[in-house]
Amino acid sequence: MHSTGIKKLLLLGAGHAHLHVLAQLAQNRPADLDITVVSPYPYQTYSGMTPGLVAGHYSPEDCQIPLEPLIKAAGAKWIQARCSGIDAGEQRVRLSPTAKSQSAEDIPPPDLPYHLLSIDTGAVIDRERLEVEMPGASAHALIVRPIEVFASLWPKVVELAQSQPVSIAIIGAGAAGIELLFAAEQCLRQQGIHGARFSLITGGGEVAANYSAGVRKRVLRQLKRRGITVLREACVGLEKGRVKLGSGAVLSCDVPLLAIGTHAPAWLQDSGLALSEAGHVLVNAFQQSPSHPNVFAAGDVSTREDKPHPKSGVYAVRAGPPLVHNLLAQHEGLALKPHHPPVNTLNLLSCGTDHAIVSYGPLYAGGAWAWRWKDRIDRAFVAKYRVL
Ligand SMILES: Cc1cc2nc3c(=O)[nH]c(=O)nc-3n(C[C@H](O)[C@H](O)[C@H](O)COP(=O)(O)OP(=O)(O)OC[C@H]3O[C@@H](n4cnc5c(N)ncnc54)[C@H](O)[C@@H]3O)c2cc1C
Repeated sequence: MHSTGIKKLLLLGAGHAHLHVLAQLAQNRPADLDITVVSPYPYQTYSGMTPGLVAGHYSPEDCQIPLEPLIKAAGAKWIQARCSGIDAGEQRVRLSPTAKSQSAEDIPPPDLPYHLLSIDTGAVIDRERLEVEMPGASAHALIVRPIEVFASLWPKVVELAQSQPVSIAIIGAGAAGIELLFAAEQCLRQQGIHGARFSLITGGGEVAANYSAGVRKRVLRQLKRRGITVLREACVGLEKGRVKLGSGAVLSCDVPLLAIGTHAPAWLQDSGLALSEAGHVLVNAFQQSPSHPNVFAAGDVSTREDKPHPKSGVYAVRAGPPLVHNLLAQHEGLALKPHHPPVNTLNLLSCGTDHAIVSYGPLYAGGAWAWRWKDRIDRAFVAKYRVL
């Protein structure tokens, strides 16, 4: 790459941390930095509000942060594409068009060079790996990621439920699965749709296994109150209208909704970057790749080599300020600052839009007030990045 004095900063994905990076660059962009953002959608859907969208409490626009104004304010360019590979040795990123890239001018360049790279593309559900774990899932399940696709398909489930009694099974009993289940139940109940049956398939373990016993008890109480069946079994495959369970039993099901744990993107595999065992971008205390100092990463796509922490939006948000500081410091040859991820985070688990369970370390409580609190926090997050 020949040098003109201008350096190319490439931001992959517009995840939680990159929203902050863009907002900060809008305040202070070095004149010798040429910034490009690669992202497949013109908006970022805020996942924390997706259950409220399913419940009918929010409109799609309520949950979306338009990216173009933010990118423009940061003096950056937007390329609508997906990253499909990185060559960290050559300092190039490979791009694939999105489904929206129809005309010639929409087709992105096949690859882009960079001097400085930051990755915040989130986690994925890898369809190939999914097919090995759960044959038939790709064809028959409604998969929660990408959230944008899931959100656009949910109204079709409501339409189906309006025309016939439906059976909905949520596969995955972590926070996302639980929240979506309560939201789906509330949506149909509030629309006066009768006869829907809901099941939660845990994968064999406990419901809300990552939470304290007190939170789990509260979740189970809410599930019972709404007449939801809990199946402590693994889903081992799907066929049209059927979910196969580990015990050999078969659950008849019109809408299997898949919210299982996520994977690292397969396109990182041959990047040359140091990766964690699970394939995420390994980063040090500066959110910087230990193998390639001009590469940084944050959010669910990355794993801290010194302090691995759970993958959640809260951690991705917290990484934003140190990430932008360190990107600029790396560009200017200044000292980087370590990021100290919190040991405990505030978790607000919604059980529909009239009840939430709040937990912080071993402490927990629940009620309608907790839902109103979550609603305020989530709306404020989206509003913060809309003002630009
Ligand atoms: C239903 C649901 C509810 C949730 N609720 C909460 C909650 O209340 N609190 C919480 O802490 N966590 C929650 N989570 C988890 C949370 O969504 C993730 O941990 C969080 O989104 C991770 O943020 P991120 O910045 O890593 O990536 P993301 O927010 O996923 O953003 C990734 C960005 O990269 C883009 N992108 C993806 N692939 C590519 C590619 N190949 N090339 C270029 N761009 C790409 C995406 O379009 C997106 O803009 C929830 C998850 C779900 C599914």
